Amino acid sequence: MKKIGSVGWIEKEVAACGPSDAICRPLAIAPCTSDIHTVWSGALGERENMVLGHEAVGEIVEVGSLVKNFKVGDKVIITAITPDWNSEEAQSGYAMHSGGMLSGWKFSNFKDGVFAEFFHVNDADGNLTHLPEGVSLEAACMLSDMVPTGFHGAELAEIEFGNSVAVIGIGPVGLMSVAACSLRGAGEIFAVGSREICCNLARDFGATQIINYKKGDILSQIMDLTDGKGVDRVVIAGGDCDTFDAAVKMLRPGGKIGNVNYLGDGDYIKIPREAWGCGMGHKQINGGLMPGGSLRSQRLLNLIQTNRIHPERLITHRFKGLSGVEEALMLMKDKPKDLIKPIVIID
Ligand SMILES: [Zn+2]
Repeated sequence: MKKIGSVGWIEKEVAACGPSDAICRPLAIAPCTSDIHTVWSGALGERENMVLGHEAVGEIVEVGSLVKNFKVGDKVIITAITPDWNSEEAQSGYAMHSGGMLSGWKFSNFKDGVFAEFFHVNDADGNLTHLPEGVSLEAACMLSDMVPTGFHGAELAEIEFGNSVAVIGIGPVGLMSVAACSLRGAGEIFAVGSREICCNLARDFGATQIINYKKGDILSQIMDLTDGKGVDRVVIAGGDCDTFDAAVKMLRPGGKIGNVNYLGDGDYIKIPREAWGCGMGHKQINGGLMPGGSLRSQRLLNLIQTNRIHPERLITHRFKGLSGVEEALMLMKDKPKDLIKPIVIID
């Protein structure tokens, strides 16, 4: 990112490796809608000459003297969120906010990202996960952000057995939310989207009904399908500040909303007063940045190794070599009909 609205290539020094850190070279990287928001919506504010990217599998080329679990040559999964694990926020259970709200998100935010020949990972023992034999780069790369963020939507909505759930937005994150709701025992899962390729994968991942927002208002479609009762849970993985209006209205009293959508613009979120029970409807809205961390990655990795999830199925477009990231990024910006997620394989 050269500045808001402008991308290109740049030469930079390789970052210094602190005693707890690692320097990696990428083996696989993936652009994300967040990168698009950052550059073309200026969602984080101005950033000059910052390397983009936060989703990667890599190989370690240097480790700090205090790093215990990793050595040069190890292949590793790097999470998009890389907290400082000794911070007060981490000790209070919110590592993703270490150093200030959302500050666990460092790549392509407070420091250079992973679309480079080499990149820096802070707190290597806390933030890296060994890539096991038999797990593809494609599946592993989805553990940086798509799986942990999508799954966090289901965690935030506190899905319980038999819950009826609406997942609003079935891009790659929302699709992983559908898979997560299904694993957590949801009953009816309404997947709200429109593109055929996403709707088909949503069905494969556990959606029981598809709500096409291009065929009418999603609220009335869901109310019709639930005999006017609405749903127990809503996961928001797409839309904008106004999406909360429909989400609150379709939620039963005592229901929960889990939001993992990155609201890139607008000053206020629309919460309908009456539908929110005039403030007393017990309709919870939980929004959270996904937790990072090695332990969580290992657990999610286990779901891939045991064939419970197949995040590699998100990948629709493949590129070879670092230079391919440019085309992959523009694809993410333009979102052609047949795109879910692109990947760039370096190795
Ligand atoms: Zn991402």
